[in-house]
Amino acid sequence: MTATDQLPWADPADWKSRAVCHGKLHLFFAKKSERPEARARREAKAKRLCDVCPVMDECRQYARDNRLYGFWGGESEEARHRAGYTLNAPIGVRPTEDGESVAS
Ligand code: SF4
Repeated sequence: MTATDQLPWADPADWKSRAVCHGKLHLFFAKKSERPEARARREAKAKRLCDVCPVMDECRQYARDNRLYGFWGGESEEARHRAGYTLNAPIGVRPTEDGESVAS
């Protein structure tokens, strides 16, 4: 059992209740017009939380399956896109004329 399993809101049947990012959503979703440097800093902080989160695998798969925006399971939108879980309009990724995608 980890320390996070003992959190008051933890429900073993619900992986979201064992997340270590409760109250820190500002690290996982971009503000409007966020600059690339700020995004990199924000996502680095988010990743540090994900790296110690007991439900990272469940979280990552949930975001992949639901094509979610934001930073989930240690993975950015761009990383999910590269893994084959494409968003309709991923932030920071633009299509090229040959149908490939590149980070912008
Ligand atoms: S893996 Fe990251 S985004 Fe997912 S629940 Fe844990 S801390 Fe939150």
